[in-house]
Amino acid sequence: MKHRMTQNDLLRRLPQERLSLLRELGNLADEGGVSLYLIGGVVRDLLLKRENWDLDLTVEGDGIAFARLVADRYGAGLAAFERFATARLVFPDGLKMDIATTRRESYAQPAVLPTVQPASIEEDLSRRDFTINAMAMQLNPGQFGRVLDAYGGQRDLRARTIRVLHAGSFQDDPTRIFRAIRFEQRFGFRLERTASRLLAQAASTNLIQQLSGPRLQNEILLLFAEHDSVRAIARLAQLKLLRFLHRRLCYTTNVRRVVTAVPKALAWWARRFTDSVVDRPIVYLMALSSESSPAVVAAMIRRLALSRVQAENVSAGGSRIDRALKRLTNKGTVRPSQVYRLFADLSDEALVLLLAKQVSRQHGVRLSLLKRHLVAYVKNRTIKTALTGRDLQTMGLKPGPRYKTILGKLLDARIDGMITTEAEERAFLQKRFGLVG
Ligand code: ATP
Repeated sequence: MKHRMTQNDLLRRLPQERLSLLRELGNLADEGGVSLYLIGGVVRDLLLKRENWDLDLTVEGDGIAFARLVADRYGAGLAAFERFATARLVFPDGLKMDIATTRRESYAQPAVLPTVQPASIEEDLSRRDFTINAMAMQLNPGQFGRVLDAYGGQRDLRARTIRVLHAGSFQDDPTRIFRAIRFEQRFGFRLERTASRLLAQAASTNLIQQLSGPRLQNEILLLFAEHDSVRAIARLAQLKLLRFLHRRLCYTTNVRRVVTAVPKALAWWARRFTDSVVDRPIVYLMALSSESSPAVVAAMIRRLALSRVQAENVSAGGSRIDRALKRLTNKGTVRPSQVYRLFADLSDEALVLLLAKQVSRQHGVRLSLLKRHLVAYVKNRTIKTALTGRDLQTMGLKPGPRYKTILGKLLDARIDGMITTEAEERAFLQKRFGLVG
């Protein structure tokens, strides 16, 4: 006989202290006379036996009032967003939890944020993106663990299928196009036939163009943060969605090679430089636009409303990296200080891209040379000169642009190992620039 999992088995997949907390919150909901549910992705992931640290709860009643009750009881921090009838709690141990009010959403126009009104749990589930995300689990004591699944979410999880709840879903909210690709790639699921047709239809219109910059950016960067970003990007290209980043952005063979080399470059970098925190999605965006003209890249940056730091990174993806790569993989030796100068303006993201470009060229010898340069550079970039501008002043040099040149030469000599002590620095300044002090 086929084993049927009981609802309590499902919740036992949660860590014990989470499970206890949810039970307590269920009791608190009964005291407050409201129905409380775990909802959306966390229910899906419980069924899939995947870890999910986002505890999304929803209250049939006043969500914010219930969140206040919880905050008082547990000494949690609370931020309430009245307009969306939601609250975010941060517990003393750092646990974060979102508590919403069950609601109905209506879209005045496609692609804009909806207006919300309180509604039943059934209606709340009916506004969700896909059947696998449209399930809830009740937490009130009498009903603890009861799964609400009106749209066949469990059936679709078993069939590894992504299905929309109604035909207008992608039109109402084109971010669901990207969400569909995200879940499809993450779980290795397939879009159900109608959903696939509707997605292709919505993708062929200009709906995505109407999304605001920050919303489009969010979807793109989330997609690029997935485990297999390369496949996600290939899927975007296949669905002709890259045009929404810029109409001239093309997934050429060269770009594909660089994008495909990024995971290897990232893995090498992470192994070598454990302290460096690299913005992975941005590296993919850089790789994707690495063959585009500066004008196209600049327009894409504006379209995605990237932050200043992100924008600086992405615009460095082109010529500067190519110049450095050319110089370093040419024949002839390069001094460590020259490598330093070539890399000094590049962020770690740009250096990872540089490595990916070389990996994509599949030239073993030059690749190992480049890796050696990178290791030496990362070590050398912590080197500082003992003498500073203040010392130059003491030596009677008037402050001005020469300071930068002189201190630069001093640093180069240190990096190249020609001098190692302050006394040697002083001797160097005397010999090269006639400075004494
Ligand atoms: P992830 O694991 O990537 O966080 P998630 O499903 O938990 O996936 P969230 O963005 O945290 O995604 O959203 C939580 C839930 O809210 C979803 O499971 C879904 O039910 C609902 N939801 C989120 N975005 C949308 C949307 N654009 N349209 C409809 N429902 C949505």
